[in-house]
Amino acid sequence: MNKEEKMQLRNKIIAETESLEESIKSLEETSKPVPPDNAIGRLTRMEAINAKSISEASLNAARTKLAKLNRAMTRLDDPEFGMCVLCEEQIPLGRIMLLPETTVCVRCADR
Ligand SMILES: [Zn+2]
Repeated sequence: MNKEEKMQLRNKIIAETESLEESIKSLEETSKPVPPDNAIGRLTRMEAINAKSISEASLNAARTKLAKLNRAMTRLDDPEFGMCVLCEEQIPLGRIMLLPETTVCVRCADR
């Protein structure tokens, strides 16, 4: 990976991190505890609980991805960065640009 590619990747990670932080903020709002039955109708409460569990799942996924992106950011200058942790081959740049948090190549990811 050359200097310019690394810079592109860094910008991409920063942009993704910012948008993830935004969605985490709004997901935190929608995964707040659902008020008791007497506050809203029964069906609405069921819907709210469903929506809450979907938000919680997305929130967890977003937090995991954010942690991985942060790790990718700290590893960016590591000479090992961009190498597959399983087969130690260079991960194609296209894949890293698409998924900066990835640590395995397509072949190993499919395995
Ligand atoms: Zn691999």
